[in-house]
Amino acid sequence: MIRTGIGFDAHRFAEGRRLVLGGVEIQHPRGLLGHSDADVLSHALADALLGAMALGDIGHHFPDTDARWKDADSLVILAQSAELVRARGACIHNVDATVMAERPRIAPHLALMRERLARAIGIEPDAVSIKATTLEKMGSIGREEGIAVMAVATVNQES
Ligand code: MG
Repeated sequence: MIRTGIGFDAHRFAEGRRLVLGGVEIQHPRGLLGHSDADVLSHALADALLGAMALGDIGHHFPDTDARWKDADSLVILAQSAELVRARGACIHNVDATVMAERPRIAPHLALMRERLARAIGIEPDAVSIKATTLEKMGSIGREEGIAVMAVATVNQES
């Protein structure tokens, strides 16, 4: 049985933070604020994977009240989300995401992101699609207040 899940996440920029997207650290004047490394792309993908199996969200499985996830590498959160999906007898088919950011430019980092995300999820890089768009300077993201990501995941549950 084919199942799909959707994920969405947004984090605001803050001074003095590293910018980590899809497991890749990007040189930028500001990073994203969060309890973990605030990797908004990994978070949206994790939510999509959990959503495909109706397993709740990452806030439920990896609460920001838990010191274990303080400054955590979100690729670990993503990998553990993938394991939760597999533990329910599903294999992960592919994921797709759109990063919404006015800056920085995402394109130069896409190949490395796909490689690291694929390794964390346990699928091939050609099953990981990452796209990026600006918001044409509209709204909070257009004003560079933060970055948002939407994602979908497709899994195949053996019956
Ligand atoms: Mg998040």
